[in-house]
Amino acid sequence: MNREHAVKVLAKCSGYDARRPDDLEIAAFTEALAHVDYDKALAAVAEHYQAETRRIMPADIIRLVSARPARVHVHKWLNDGTCYGGDGCTERVV
Ligand SMILES: [Zn+2]
Repeated sequence: MNREHAVKVLAKCSGYDARRPDDLEIAAFTEALAHVDYDKALAAVAEHYQAETRRIMPADIIRLVSARPARVHVHKWLNDGTCYGGDGCTERVV
């Protein structure tokens, strides 16, 4: 994820913990989460606050993202031979 993503992740965090992210915190999250998928990070924030009362840190996001098994995608073929596209699938029947 990039800086813009980190800002949005921190905005979601602040919904739970009322933090007011400043440039330093945004830069830290951007660096620590550079290799983390944005959507998975957003999901990890909600997951963290379903189980924890302490403030989330980048390590929590990384741990939750890596612990979650990859979602199993089942194709749903449309009449034109393409998959309905859920989960980012771009496959088509040949
Ligand atoms: Zn598919």
